[in-house]
Amino acid sequence: MNITSPLLPSLDTFNKYLAIAWHNKWLTNNGQLHQILEKRLCEKIRTTNLSLFNNGTVALLVGIKALRLTGKVVTTPFTFPATIHALVWNRIEPVFCDISETDYNMDVTKLENVITPDTTGILGVHVYGNPCAVEMIHEIAKIYGLRVIYDGAHAFGVEIDSKPITSYGDVTMLSFHATKLFHTAEGGALGYADPELKSRIDYLKNFGIKNEEEVIFPGINGKMSEVHAALGLSVLELYEQEYENRATVFRKYTNLLENIPGVIPLRYNSNVTRASYQYFVVRIIPEEAGFNRDEIYRKMRSAGINVRKYFFPLASNYNCYHHLPSARPEILPVANKISQQMLALPFYGALTDSDLEKIVSFLKT
Ligand SMILES: *Cc1c(COP(=O)(O)O)cnc(C)c1O
Repeated sequence: MNITSPLLPSLDTFNKYLAIAWHNKWLTNNGQLHQILEKRLCEKIRTTNLSLFNNGTVALLVGIKALRLTGKVVTTPFTFPATIHALVWNRIEPVFCDISETDYNMDVTKLENVITPDTTGILGVHVYGNPCAVEMIHEIAKIYGLRVIYDGAHAFGVEIDSKPITSYGDVTMLSFHATKLFHTAEGGALGYADPELKSRIDYLKNFGIKNEEEVIFPGINGKMSEVHAALGLSVLELYEQEYENRATVFRKYTNLLENIPGVIPLRYNSNVTRASYQYFVVRIIPEEAGFNRDEIYRKMRSAGINVRKYFFPLASNYNCYHHLPSARPEILPVANKISQQMLALPFYGALTDSDLEKIVSFLKT
């Protein structure tokens, strides 16, 4: 049993879209499929502006550049490596803020303590699709004149009080990697409310080329090809059904895991009116459970259940970042504890009741 199982459209469906690119003899550079996908995704996740990319990491690199962040940016150590690397590739020093014990996102009560005069922005991660404290972050950013960017790789389609996740912060990165529910094999996007950003982002992802005569920024190649857009349009046809199936699996997991001492299943914050169903994770508190995360990880892996330690190691403990002044474990106590306790369980629509019972049985020892 794997951690996820990618949505695979029929090859007939994929071909139906590929035929459009073949007919146009147009394989990349804002082709017809790219334009259709961008528009359909805007409708699907109710975002006003979207720019597609070849992957989420390049989208994040460009988002940071589009907001002209420099100096230091406050972020979370409890994330995938790409979040932090995207800052460093922009010559920005990441400043780690500890996380909250309830939703594992940046702890906004500790945020102001790490802001200094050279801080220019906040990079939050909506971990497991649970939104950061977006209103508080907005208030703090306003007071200190900071830009806000979110890594929303886990948050495709999330709505907070019926408002789309991409309407919070200046820009939100989405990942369409094959391990994400909606995917294009490799792909990503930036979603944002300000239409003024559209041209800057779209130039930046195309080498900074404004027109045949002008190159206005040191841009990069971040474009999504027609082949990936064709896959995205095909996957979009399967998305709603898989979403419903995952919602059912999520409920079943939650019921099966009820009242197991020391095993705390992921819960979406009460303001989430639409969830992403990207991951299903449990927190294991060893003092109450009688076993620790690493023990159960080894047991399940040797039984062929491909659970994952999302996120371990903590970014602040990587060899390349542990020297940073904000990376000292003593000042990130919650993040250091939580990264030892989280376990991502297999999560996709095709999991059967007996799969779920088998997985949960390991946690009931
Ligand atoms: C998947 C993921 C990324 C990277 O996205 P790619 O599309 O693979 O580049 C970044 N951040 C988080 C939190 C992710 O889960």
